Amino acid sequence: MKLFDVYPLFNIEITAGKGCYTYDTQGTEYLDLYGGHAVISIGHSHPYYVNKITEQAQKLIFYSNSVINSLQQQLADKLGRLSGYDDYTLFLINSGAEANENALKLASFHTGKKKVIAFSKSFHGRTSAAVKVTDNPKIVAPINDTFEVAFLPLNDLERVKTEMAAGDVCAVIIEGIQGVGGIQIPDTQFLKGLRELCTQNGVVLILDEVQSGYGRTGKFFAHQHAGIRPDLITVAKGMGNGFPIGGVLISPDFTPVYGMLGTTFGGNHLACTAACAVLDVMENEKLVENAATVGEYLIAQLKTMPQIKEVRGKGLMIGLEFDYPVKELRSKLLFEQHVFTGASGTNVIRLLPPLSLSKEQADCFIGKLKNILS
Ligand code: PLP
Repeated sequence: MKLFDVYPLFNIEITAGKGCYTYDTQGTEYLDLYGGHAVISIGHSHPYYVNKITEQAQKLIFYSNSVINSLQQQLADKLGRLSGYDDYTLFLINSGAEANENALKLASFHTGKKKVIAFSKSFHGRTSAAVKVTDNPKIVAPINDTFEVAFLPLNDLERVKTEMAAGDVCAVIIEGIQGVGGIQIPDTQFLKGLRELCTQNGVVLILDEVQSGYGRTGKFFAHQHAGIRPDLITVAKGMGNGFPIGGVLISPDFTPVYGMLGTTFGGNHLACTAACAVLDVMENEKLVENAATVGEYLIAQLKTMPQIKEVRGKGLMIGLEFDYPVKELRSKLLFEQHVFTGASGTNVIRLLPPLSLSKEQADCFIGKLKNILS
């Protein structure tokens, strides 16, 4: 059987990883500034994390959500404490798309409505609120008709106000920082205004922190830079450092009812162990603080480079915009300098390294980037 061929691949096979580095089949070392789309939060194969999941795998990997699994409560306690949301409840699933899908469902159940406001260039996974993800006109959004989605320009509060006036909106969904859309940061005033409009109109505010959360921007969640509290927060990616797990943090205004949401694999023993280990390492190694300081340093260094049109980002979620397509630049970084980076659209290089990136590794990247730009 062949694989269903949907991913354009680099001709490299990564077979090992350690900290901020990965290694291919030939043993070549790469500096990983992408972490598999923001997934590697604490670094590849962190020994504490590997020990915890190995121990758990030897005991029990999975049992169903029909019996008590105290690892779920341990995870909820740690996450509540470290994120500042210990008054919220946690629903566990396996991925970012599932987190957003369940958040949209909760918003619809809560309000009895099904219209959703999202923003242009946003990405919420392959969900009901998906935007067009390729230039192929056959692949358009939304991918099903459960929700009617209005895509509005980012940072335009008046358009949001007008859209809400009809009274049929159940939710606004917005990324803490747009990742796939090119590292676009919502204005603080816009986020505060959204919070107010949602409260006034009985609309649920969903913050998609799947990419921008879990310490990436130098605070636990990107929206915390704006000082707002959403009704629902979705997480995945860095939560398991590569082990699939996602979650919805749910405000105390929502009352759970048996059967309202459900999943087979969500919150399984191995996933919870991985997620608890990630939070332990984040706390013990002060990785949120590290993302803030190393990120600030890296952004400042990048801003001194005249070849880059614009540097955007917070912490270790950084976009480098060029006047031209970055495909060749990224290939040179990978094949000549051995650095993994990502892209957003055609002209933006996207950096999402492990939160443990050191200042020396940031300097190493700057040197390699200068090598190919000069
Ligand atoms: N939301 C955001 C902001 C994302 O960046 C992504 C994935 O890139 C998703 C949701 C979907 O997550 P997953 O691929 O785990 O379904």
